[in-house]
Amino acid sequence: SPVVIAIDGPSGSGKSSVSKAVAARLGLAYLDTGAMYRAATVWGMATADLADAGAVTTAVRAMPLVMGLDPVAPGVELDGKDVAETIRTTEVTTNVSKVASNLDVRAELKRLQREIIDQESGAQAVQSGGRGIVAEGRDITTVVAPDADVRVLLTASEEARLRRRSLEVHGADDASAVEATKDQVLRRDQDDAKVTQFLVAADGVVTVDSSDLDFEQTVDAVLAVVTQ
Ligand code: C5P
Repeated sequence: SPVVIAIDGPSGSGKSSVSKAVAARLGLAYLDTGAMYRAATVWGMATADLADAGAVTTAVRAMPLVMGLDPVAPGVELDGKDVAETIRTTEVTTNVSKVASNLDVRAELKRLQREIIDQESGAQAVQSGGRGIVAEGRDITTVVAPDADVRVLLTASEEARLRRRSLEVHGADDASAVEATKDQVLRRDQDDAKVTQFLVAADGVVTVDSSDLDFEQTVDAVLAVVTQ
């Protein structure tokens, strides 16, 4: 029967690329919940005042969001437009924790995430031959899918995470590039940790530390948890 795999972790843990690879390898759908918070931020900035929590909540409840679930080409569409690049801009990354700390926004996105997970793992999925879904984020193992078949917390040392983020954002991991990403990464993790538990594994969640693993080794380590 269809499987649900929940993967949480901080920024720079390799969570997104590893989750996509695991989903592709197992023939599962893939849900990037961080992309949903980023899309909510884009929509909030476009249609409301981010300082007005009530207005942002109203905006997010009416957000015309379509998530593409193909791990090889996961899409994010807002109002019919591809926003895959827009959601990764520095401006959005800077503002996303503010939107994600709004508990009414979280409740709405959790509802949407549950809907997608149920659609990919419920009776409907069985009928259409669906094999399940990998959902990744900050609160999937604890809040969105605490009942998932497999729950993994992907961690890495601060040094490894900063180096990876720096390579992603600046295309370099020399000392000055790492320094430039440091404040933003650490501040975002600190802000996020106030509302979601992704720094310490919850009960029953398996920790995979990727500090000393390369990409393929990390994917294999997660696959080993899935098959164990
Ligand atoms: O994973 P990513 O860095 O794209 O996530 C962007 C932001 O979305 C996080 O910094 C966090 O504020 C928020 N988020 C969240 N809960 C999740 C996933 C992401 O609060 N499950």
